[in-house]
Amino acid sequence: MKYDYIIAGSGCAGLSLLYRILKDPVLCKKHILVIDKEQKNTNDRTWCFWEKGNGLFESIVTHQWKTLEFLSDDFQRKFDMKAYRYKMIQGIDFYNFVLDFAKQFENVSFTSENITAITTVNDLAEVSTENTTYTATYVFNSTSLFYPKMDTENSLLQHFEGWVIKTKKPVFDKNVGRLMDFRLSQEHGATFMYVLPTSETEALVEYTLFTEKVLEKEQYKTALKNYIQDYLEIEDYEVLHTEFGIIPMSLAKFSRNIPNEKHIINLGTAGGFTKASSGYTFQFVQKHTEQIIDLLKNGKHPNPQLNFRDKMYQWYDRTLLEVILSKKMDGKEIFATIFKNREIETILAFLGNESSVWEDMKVMSCLPIKPFLVAGMKQLRS
Ligand SMILES: Cc1cc2nc3c(=O)[nH]c(=O)nc-3n(C[C@H](O)[C@H](O)[C@H](O)COP(=O)(O)OP(=O)(O)OC[C@H]3O[C@@H](n4cnc5c(N)ncnc54)[C@H](O)[C@@H]3O)c2cc1C
Repeated sequence: MKYDYIIAGSGCAGLSLLYRILKDPVLCKKHILVIDKEQKNTNDRTWCFWEKGNGLFESIVTHQWKTLEFLSDDFQRKFDMKAYRYKMIQGIDFYNFVLDFAKQFENVSFTSENITAITTVNDLAEVSTENTTYTATYVFNSTSLFYPKMDTENSLLQHFEGWVIKTKKPVFDKNVGRLMDFRLSQEHGATFMYVLPTSETEALVEYTLFTEKVLEKEQYKTALKNYIQDYLEIEDYEVLHTEFGIIPMSLAKFSRNIPNEKHIINLGTAGGFTKASSGYTFQFVQKHTEQIIDLLKNGKHPNPQLNFRDKMYQWYDRTLLEVILSKKMDGKEIFATIFKNREIETILAFLGNESSVWEDMKVMSCLPIKPFLVAGMKQLRS
């Protein structure tokens, strides 16, 4: 059978797109096949992101914060986020929400298979799994099949272990999210803790590093235990849930287009929507899938082209990553300089690709010129 759309990979990007298609009165009638090698039935990740107002997935937001905190050795700042809210969504809530919604559509099928190739044959996209071949007008891919080559020359890993802890006594302020606490040893590279309380007795505490290699399992555990005891001053707690993740922060060119394959559109991390300088992806996936829906509705090719601003943000990201990779300035110093000197709205607009050119200038002007100029020139030529 030929499908209108195949969604290859049903994680964050694939299911965000599916939900948007099914919310549209015309597109929801299309024949859609969703392929993933895994069943999406575990709470394998927690997504945090920031936005103004209510988003499409508002009803499954677990918690949101209006105040964010940043800490480094010589300063500590709490920011009122004004119009922005920092939000948390549990992976399992997201998967269940979209998959339950999709159940009412007979024109949507799901299959659990490992995809081995995606190509174009006779002006249609073809998806091969170990047993079958499926065809469609468009394939929206978020599997890693088209990832570029990453190595220690062009990439860092953002790796982290997070624990959801529950304390006996009320110790947290659930209104304040700790975005980055850099008061930790930086021996491996940029290293910080993230503390997101969802009640007075529960919080997600995450030990995060931007480095070339992952650590030994025990090192994450020791760092989390020490931080909870020494910085949060909590002795009595239980660990309700753990998560581990590795996100690529790369100069390698992830691309939403595949040369000569106009029926295949890359989404999510595969399409370059993981921000190279921070690893945030969720909010960029939402913007991209929203644009795809607009194009599909208007009968256009569903691959939004990069505009001038998109290219500028990519260049900023690559420049910042180049500075860290070339060890011209460390991550802690860069983030501490920005958070010490600029307002949170400006920083979040900049990091969320929503800033004005004036705001870009404001953020960049607090950083030392030389390392960024050298890295920026290098990335312009690459
Ligand atoms: C633990 C963790 C926490 C994160 N937290 C945040 C956060 O707080 N905020 C944020 O913005 N980002 C976060 N990220 C980064 C990013 O948002 C996620 O990785 C996000 O899930 C990326 O979306 P995606 O759709 O590109 O990939 P995925 O969600 O990983 O989806 C890809 C899907 O493709 C399937 N697949 C892969 N290969 C094949 C194959 N060959 N055949 C069939 N199926 C295949 C996979 O099973 C998977 O379901 C986090 C990542 C991790 C790992």
